[in-house]
Amino acid sequence: MNNYNAYFEVASIFFLVLILLLVSIKRKLDIIQNKIFYWGIVLLLILNIVDAVGANLINYENIHTGENVVSLYIHWGLSIAAYLVQQVLVQLFLVYVVIATKEKEEKEGLLFYILSGISIIYYFLVLSTPFTNWVFSFNEQGTYQYGPLHSILYISPAIYGLYACIRMLLDKKRFGKMQKLYVVAFAIILVVGTVIQVVFVPNYLIVYFLVTIILTAVFLTLQSPDYYIDKTTMAFNHEGLMVMINERITRSKPFSVLFLSICDFENIKDGFSADNKKHVYSSLCQKLFKIPKTDVFREEDKLYILFNDISKAGEYDKMVEGWLKDGIKVEGMHEPVKIVAEMLSFDFPGRIHTVEEFNSIIKYFVMGNYYKQYNVLQFINEEFFQKKKRYEDVRRLVEEAIRTDGIEIFYQPIYSTQKDTFLCAEALVRLKDGETIGFVSPEEFIPIAEKEHLILQLENIILRKICGFVKQEKLQDYGLEYIEVNLSGNQCMQTDLYEQLHALIEEYGIPPKFINFEVTETSAIDNSECLIQNMQQLLDYGASFALDDYGSGCSNLQYLVEFPFEIVKLDKEIVWTYFGKGNQRVKSILPLSVNMLHDIDVRIVAEGVETEEQKDELIRMGVQYLQGYYFSKPINEQEFIQFLKERNSCI
Ligand code: C2E
Ligand code: CA
Ligand code: CA
Repeated sequence: MNNYNAYFEVASIFFLVLILLLVSIKRKLDIIQNKIFYWGIVLLLILNIVDAVGANLINYENIHTGENVVSLYIHWGLSIAAYLVQQVLVQLFLVYVVIATKEKEEKEGLLFYILSGISIIYYFLVLSTPFTNWVFSFNEQGTYQYGPLHSILYISPAIYGLYACIRMLLDKKRFGKMQKLYVVAFAIILVVGTVIQVVFVPNYLIVYFLVTIILTAVFLTLQSPDYYIDKTTMAFNHEGLMVMINERITRSKPFSVLFLSICDFENIKDGFSADNKKHVYSSLCQKLFKIPKTDVFREEDKLYILFNDISKAGEYDKMVEGWLKDGIKVEGMHEPVKIVAEMLSFDFPGRIHTVEEFNSIIKYFVMGNYYKQYNVLQFINEEFFQKKKRYEDVRRLVEEAIRTDGIEIFYQPIYSTQKDTFLCAEALVRLKDGETIGFVSPEEFIPIAEKEHLILQLENIILRKICGFVKQEKLQDYGLEYIEVNLSGNQCMQTDLYEQLHALIEEYGIPPKFINFEVTETSAIDNSECLIQNMQQLLDYGASFALDDYGSGCSNLQYLVEFPFEIVKLDKEIVWTYFGKGNQRVKSILPLSVNMLHDIDVRIVAEGVETEEQKDELIRMGVQYLQGYYFSKPINEQEFIQFLKERNSCI
C-alpha cells in the first residue's frame, strides 16, 4: 500500500472533535448510555488518529528515502493498537444497544457467550500475529501484508454489528419506525462501504469515515441531547425522566424524588395562563438547577426533582416547600409568585423497586384518592400503599371481568304501592369473581372503572346483558313494565349517547318504553347541555328517565325543572334519616320532598326500605314505588324470574 492516503481520517477527526465539543457543552442526562456514547466517540477518534499517523509514516518513508526510516516496531505497534481499539469500539456499540433494548430481569443467553468467544479469539489472533503472521505482517520494506486469517478484522465487527442491528429492529419500546429505518440504512451503507473499500480503494480508509458519519447521525437523532430536554424550561422532559429512573433502578443507585403537581399561581394577573406558566416554570427551574447533585424534569404541570444525594434530600425538600409558599421572583412581575402544588416525597430504594411502581405511585397520587392537600409535603405511608394496592387490584379485576365475561347483572324488584305488585326492577352490576379479593361492590369498582377509562366498555357489556335478558325471558309477561338502568357520568358525557343506546335497543328488538335510565344529580350537572339533548332524543324515541339518589347531593330544584325526569328516586339516606333518631328538622326533609315532588307531578321511588313500618309509613305519604331489602335484595336472573313467578301472582 504505497500511496496510502489519510484524507478520510482527517475528515473523521474533524467531525469527531466537533461532536465531542457539542457533547461537552450540552446539558445531558447522567446515564450510562451517554457515557458509552462519549467513550465511543473518543475511541473512534483515537482509531482515526492512530491510522492517520500510521499512514503518514508509510508515506514518509516512501516519499523521502525509500528506506525503512521508521522502525518496524512502530508499524506493528500502531496496527495492533488500531485493531484492538476497533474491537473495543464494536463491543462498546453492542453494550450501548443492549442497554437501550434490555428488558427487565433479562439474562444474557447463548449468543452472549458466542460473541464473547469471538472477541477472545479476535484479541488472541491480533496480539499473536507478530509471531504467527496469521492476521497481517510487514515485509522487510515495511509493507503491510495480509495474513491467512486477515478477514477476522472484518468478520468480528460484522457479526457484532449484525447482532446489534437485529436487537434494535426487534425492540418494541425504545426505537421507533424511523429509527429502525436509520439502523437498516446504516447497516447497508456500512456493508457496501466495506466491500468498496476492500475491492476498489484499498488506499483510502473510507470505512472509519463511514462509521464517523453514522455516529454523527446517531448523535443528531437517537443520542441527541435535545431529545430529553424540555424547551420551555431547559429541564429534562418526561422521556428523560423515564430513562433516568430506569437507569438508576437497574443499577441500584439510590435517589430521592420530590414530585410537584402544580395547580395554580398566586399574586399574578390571569394566574395559570400559558404565558405565565412559561415564565414561572423557567424561573423555578433556574432556581432548582442550582441545587447540587440534583436533576430536574418537567412534564406540563408536573415537576420531578431528583436528588442524587439522599442524605441532603430532606433538607432540600423543606427548602423547595419554602420557595413555593413564600413565592419566587419572576422576571417582569412585581411580587413574588406563590405556587400552589401538591407535593410528594419518596425514595429509592425504600418505597419503590421498579419503574412501573414509580409511575403507579405518581398516577395514584395525582388522582387525589388519598392525599388532597396543597403546599403540604406528603410522604408515602403504609396506608397510601394499601389503598393504592386495593385500587390496582380492583382495576385488574374489572379488566379481567371485561375480558373473560366475568360480569353478571342482578335485579332488585321495585314494588308499586298503588297496584300492589312488582312493576319494575333496578338492574345492578356484579363481578362474578368473589374469591380473588373478596366481594367488590359496584360502589367501589364503578368509580375506578370511570377513572381508568374502562366504564364505556363495561356499560356496553351491562346494557347488552340487560337487553339480552329482557328479550330472552320476555319479562313483560311477568307483569313488569320497565327495567331501571344506571347511566354513569361518563356515559352522560357522550355526545352520541342517543345513537349508541338507540342502536342497542333496536338490535335486541326491545320496546324503548321498557327501559328507564337512572341518572344521578352530579352526572346531570356536569354535562347538562349535552345530556338534555340526549335525553330529549331518547324520550322522543320512547324511553324514560329517573333522577337517582335524590337528597344525597345538593338537590337543586332547578335540575328537576330543567331536565325531563319522570321519576325521582329518594336516596336511602334521607329515608333512613326520617326513620332514625335524629332531630325533627332533618327528619322533615323526607315529607317535604315528597310533597314537593307530588306537586311537580313526578313519580317517586323510595330506596332502602328495610322494615314493614317504613313501608307502611311511605305508603301513607303517597310514595308510589318502594325498593329495598324488605321486599328483596338484588338477586340473580333465575332468582328474579322465580321471584316474579311467586310474587306477581296476579298474572
Ligand atoms: P344505586 O343506584 O343507588 O343502587 C342502589 C343500591 O342500594 C344498590 O347497591 C342496592 O343493593 C342497595 N340497596 C337497595 N335496597 C337496599 C336496602 O334496603 N338496604 C341497603 N342497605 N341497601 C340497599 P349496589 O348494588 O351495591 O350498587 C351500588 C351503586 O353502584 C349503585 O347505587 C349505583 O350507583 C352503582 N351501580 C350499580 N350498578 C350499576 C351499573 O350497572 N351501572 C352504573 N353506572 N352504576 C351502577
Ligand atoms: Ca341507581
Ligand atoms: Ca340510588
